[in-house]
Amino acid sequence: MSTDQVIIAGGGIGGLGAALMLARKGVRVTVLERAPEFAEVGAGLQLAPNITRMLDEVGVLEKILPLSVQPKRLVFMNAVTGEKLTHLDLLDARERYGAPYIVLHRSDLLDALRDAAEAEPNVVLRTNHEVTEVEDAGEHVVVRCANGSELTGQLLVGADGLHSVVRREIVEDEPVPSGYVAYRGAVPVEDVDRRMDMDDVVVWMGPGLHLVQYPVRAGKLYNQVAVFRSQEFLEGKEDWGTPEELDRTYSGMCEAVRVAIPSLGRIKRWPMADREPLDTWTKGRVTLLGDAAHAMLQYLAQGAGQSLLDGSAISTALSGLGEGEWVSDDVDRALAAYESERVAAAGHVQSTARVWGDIWHVDSHVPMILRDEAFRRRDVYDYHLVDWLYGPVRDGADDAPPAGPAGDHVPAEPTSAAPAHA
Ligand code: FAD
Repeated sequence: MSTDQVIIAGGGIGGLGAALMLARKGVRVTVLERAPEFAEVGAGLQLAPNITRMLDEVGVLEKILPLSVQPKRLVFMNAVTGEKLTHLDLLDARERYGAPYIVLHRSDLLDALRDAAEAEPNVVLRTNHEVTEVEDAGEHVVVRCANGSELTGQLLVGADGLHSVVRREIVEDEPVPSGYVAYRGAVPVEDVDRRMDMDDVVVWMGPGLHLVQYPVRAGKLYNQVAVFRSQEFLEGKEDWGTPEELDRTYSGMCEAVRVAIPSLGRIKRWPMADREPLDTWTKGRVTLLGDAAHAMLQYLAQGAGQSLLDGSAISTALSGLGEGEWVSDDVDRALAAYESERVAAAGHVQSTARVWGDIWHVDSHVPMILRDEAFRRRDVYDYHLVDWLYGPVRDGADDAPPAGPAGDHVPAEPTSAAPAHA
């Protein structure tokens, strides 16, 4: 038997975060990454207080804060008319939830996780190791890679993303295509025709589309994500969501949105898909985390964050199993504890993300009027739609609601419906 206790397939944010947190709890971990290096796409990431609170506990927040931006507001705009509809006060949210809302470059987070994991004596990181085969042998699990190597561990964690190979051990299903495609990228801030404040995360909502903008890397880069429903996909075209369709789709939007589109990279595009929520992520000595377990549409900006919460939960669950060989009953109990902490919670985020996409992308006249009116009428300090996600709320946070800027702080209406996040 190898010395591995846990083998993690996939060295993305989820896999590296879990490796770090497991090692800190005394568990020996090997991470197998198929790519030649640990790397992320050149785009940004939002991390809400429910995630930064946990990153603070493991000492990663202090490493990424100098490269991050703490935006003041999450602003929702109508992409057709250019009207500002509402915003969430992110500095007030920091007080409410006791942790900041940050935006940063994905590489800056991945590098911080990799550096911290590498510094742990219990962690082995291997690149060029693509997991192709898994054999659950009862008391241990055997993992085979495309390069011919074979590893044995006491538990395999599949953190291998949307198209997970390990997930096939648990369930036979496929990613659910949404028919939407994303173009994204972070470029030097001076290369963007930027019409919005650098202090804000901005979400432009239009019929069947949205655009998200925010600064990253301490304000040096500007991140933009344009997402739209592809007519070419609906028509069954093989090559859908093309750059030409991107330009056509955004040509009817307001000027501030139109001028953003040329600075988006066109070489790569991301067809958007998620997975159906599962009741279990575990079978025997194999379990899942991150997108492999609960790939979600990005409208709540939570996928990477939820994968880090998985890492935290599984590290706590396995921490009591000790140094030696793990007994199956103990492993079962630990994984049951991991699942009870995470499966339903992540599934709820998955399902809610779909609903938020539908609200952002409404494309008929009356629903659009109703959405915009609900957004306009909400109190910008009304958190009832995000407390469940960003919480817990700090004691006393509700006692003295802050006064908003003139004109923004209107009393909550019983009918108010608030947006969540980008
Ligand atoms: P991945 O990032 O997919 O990593 C999987 C890793 O496994 C990769 O390194 C891959 O090379 C490796 N791998 C794959 N197969 C194998 C194999 N067989 N063997 C070995 N290695 C393998 N989330 C947020 O929290 N905030 C946001 O603001 C946000 N915005 C988003 C915007 C867009 C447009 C999109 C598409 C997603 C967004 N997300 C966001 C979601 C987030 O990107 C994902 O949820 C997150 O990257 C998942 O991390 P992961 O480690 O589980 O999977």
